[in-house]
Amino acid sequence: SLPPEKYDPIKHACWNVGQPVPYIHLARTFDLVEAEKGKIKATSMLCNMFRSILALSPDDLLAAVYLCTDKIAADHENVELNIGGSLVTSALTEACGPSASEIREMYNNVGDLGDVAQRCWQTKKRQKLLAPTPPLLIRDVFSSLHKISSQTGSKSTGRKKSLIVNLMCACQEKEMKFLVRTLVRNLRIGAMMKTILPALAQAVAMNSFPSSADKHSASHIKEILQGLSTAVVEAYNILPNLDMLVPSLVKNSIGFSSSTLSMDPGIPIKPMLAKITNGVSQVLKLFENKAFSCEFKYDGQRAQIHRLSNGTIRVFSRNGDETTSKFPDLINIVDESCNRTEDTFIIDAEVVAVDRKNGCKLMSFQELSSRERGSKESSITLDSIKVEICVFVFDIMFANGEQLLKFPLRQRRKYLRDLFPDERPGYFRYAEEMTVEPNDACLGNESILNRMNTFLEDAWQCSCEGIMVKTLDVDAGYSPSKRADSWLKVKRDYVEGLGDSLDLVPIGAWHGNGRKAGWYSPFLMACYNPETEEFQSVCRVMSGFSDAFYKEMKEFFTGDRTLTKKPPYYRTLEVPDMWFSAELVWEIRGADLTISPVHQAGVGLVHQTRGISIRFPRFVRSVGDRNPEDCSSAADIARMFNAQPRKMDLTSGS
Ligand code: ATP
Repeated sequence: SLPPEKYDPIKHACWNVGQPVPYIHLARTFDLVEAEKGKIKATSMLCNMFRSILALSPDDLLAAVYLCTDKIAADHENVELNIGGSLVTSALTEACGPSASEIREMYNNVGDLGDVAQRCWQTKKRQKLLAPTPPLLIRDVFSSLHKISSQTGSKSTGRKKSLIVNLMCACQEKEMKFLVRTLVRNLRIGAMMKTILPALAQAVAMNSFPSSADKHSASHIKEILQGLSTAVVEAYNILPNLDMLVPSLVKNSIGFSSSTLSMDPGIPIKPMLAKITNGVSQVLKLFENKAFSCEFKYDGQRAQIHRLSNGTIRVFSRNGDETTSKFPDLINIVDESCNRTEDTFIIDAEVVAVDRKNGCKLMSFQELSSRERGSKESSITLDSIKVEICVFVFDIMFANGEQLLKFPLRQRRKYLRDLFPDERPGYFRYAEEMTVEPNDACLGNESILNRMNTFLEDAWQCSCEGIMVKTLDVDAGYSPSKRADSWLKVKRDYVEGLGDSLDLVPIGAWHGNGRKAGWYSPFLMACYNPETEEFQSVCRVMSGFSDAFYKEMKEFFTGDRTLTKKPPYYRTLEVPDMWFSAELVWEIRGADLTISPVHQAGVGLVHQTRGISIRFPRFVRSVGDRNPEDCSSAADIARMFNAQPRKMDLTSGS
């Protein structure tokens, strides 16, 4: 249907044309969006807010978009606010009066520091203790947040606190709640990039045809809005940088397309992901009559490696965080392996720990993660490296100014070979590969299956997780951020039970008994449903943990990370002793998936009222390079459930 209710930006806005936008405009919108359950309405509220800013004070649009996304800079820039609950509490004491213990008590009841801050502010207002101050402006809040993030070194905490107190003292109405949530990076309005970018696109489109009803038919408008929303999301996936995207969108308006902006070495693109399968037979069925390639699925860390025009090499994780400082050896390896020094590129690879003295044997993921981290300020040094690495490259997305995403994999591989003609065992290798061409079908499916199974066995022998299977010619482009049909994975767990492990988020726990008294056990684990923006419970997990891990988690889940109330975006019928904020991702394995009366993963996808649960879950490892929202999705789990050889009879309602 046509977007949102009629909105008159001038009538609803509370400032004059060309004037800076007051922060209250954002806070009021956040308040509305927080109370709105429907995604379409929430998108329309954000859209209206963007429209008003665009119409009156477009210079403030970028800061407003950033504040909506709970970010102040692109992820790869590693700009961190680094503000903990205790700093906010201390600032709140200074700005509004209540002691730290009073704040903690309120927090225990309310479960949200923003709501607590709002109460403190209201009490102070009632007591008429607030001196009148000029209104907070979006641009001032944004620049103060940048100032806070740039404070380092001695007395930086004091300087941060005074910047926060200044902001707090200028708050009015609902501003305090959202200011504090922004400070602790938990805006909790249920709006993510997937909502915000379409809202922005719609705002730009609608402002470009104000008297749309006269000129365009409803279906034409709808088409334009949908097209622009898709283009903006696609553009963000290849260039996740709002500083470039927002001005370009405003400038090009409905003429903006996903190719308006080009990839830029130094800015990580969102990586392509694979779909789960339950074995090679399923792969063969899905890729019938297509040429495809099986590759080893290495068990290391994904590395998107960029060489910029000035020759610098930078490395980014699966999440888009910069990890260059962790891998000084990788920089040398890539530099020495590249054919020409002037080439620029973006390649996709897996970095794996290797034992070069022992036939370049591949080591475990744990070995790799034991390497020092390095930081923005100080890289680890080459001579301190104890765990050696080999780079296994498998794709290329950009070469010498040319965007290669649309080229099929077979062609992208030619670009790779041209840039990196030689392998160097133990340092730089292509992912081990086996190609199946459509005319191999004349040998019979049995023979192809045998070859694939042998290849899978080889992968396991080499300590790989399994294999990745990718189409070579048909639908074989690189799709950023997508779990595409053209990349399939087969993992060992299929043979042992589930087709794949799940990446789940601990959202709560019970107090342990017996040997585990004093620790948390079991933990309540959840997947994420991006459609409903909920964490939905999958299982309780109580095996696979070491004692040291239990202790670590007991210390980790304290203070702001424990919540006394279940947040509205946690969906489960379980009632654990403690609720946790969603911060960690753990890999969980199990036997199979079942329909559950208490767990709510994928509710509505395979059963109207029940969710999916995993039987005999056990903890495998922490997954460090993953945001909670990037854990297994409800749709992934539903797909795995449907792919299981034996399924429950859902019609019985049991
Ligand atoms: P998993 O937990 O199975 O690694 P994931 O969600 O990180 O899954 P998937 O898309 O499921 O990502 O699997 C692809 C991952 O496998 C990549 O992120 C990469 O780190 C790793 N990988 C190892 N070898 C390859 C390869 N040859 N091609 C693509 N990815 C590979």
